Amino acid sequence: MSGKSIGLGDDLHHYLVDHGWREPEVMARLRAETESLPQRNMQIAPEQAAFMALVVELIGARRCIELGTFTGYSALAVALALPPDGRLVCCDVSKEWTDVARRYWDEAGVADRIDLRLGPALATLDRLLAEGADGSFDFAFVDAAKTEYSDYYTRLLLLLRPGGVMLFDNVLWDGAVIDPKATDDDTNGVRELNDLLATDERVTVSMIPLADGVTLARKR
Ligand code: CA
Repeated sequence: MSGKSIGLGDDLHHYLVDHGWREPEVMARLRAETESLPQRNMQIAPEQAAFMALVVELIGARRCIELGTFTGYSALAVALALPPDGRLVCCDVSKEWTDVARRYWDEAGVADRIDLRLGPALATLDRLLAEGADGSFDFAFVDAAKTEYSDYYTRLLLLLRPGGVMLFDNVLWDGAVIDPKATDDDTNGVRELNDLLATDERVTVSMIPLADGVTLARKR
């Protein structure tokens, strides 16, 4: 099973996945293909895809951005939840992985909703800001370099409209965030974001123990 899940046993987790979402068939096949890759843990859990798709519907999102696309499962969930004229900017550094993504986006008929930008996510965010895209996004999913989470946050806060929502992945980082022996850059990057969000008055925040932990932050 892809995606880490904290606190649920395998049986209960399978029950949750079976009952928590009607996963589109094309997504199930993409998930299966990605399961065969060594980096399969980078794919989000299906119950998380369900949650993200629902958030996109709930806020009526039309313009979305994703940092860290991998083989495209999370992007497919978001793109399918968008109206036909909705748009999703996808940022990733890997052509190899996003080539897999493109195949499935085509198959699902949502390729025209997705604008893939290959390159470091931070550079793409800065370019969008330079192009005057401030305040134009409704929803952002963040799952790229953990060391840059706080830098993504400050830029996304500018790019989102008031009432727009960011969703950060892996905020519990397999429990390392509370392990004093974990002093690596990735863990510190996640901690830095969590500390920032815990006190930042510009957003309303909810950290949820879904998969490896997600934080929703709504721009006020
Ligand atoms: Ca992740």
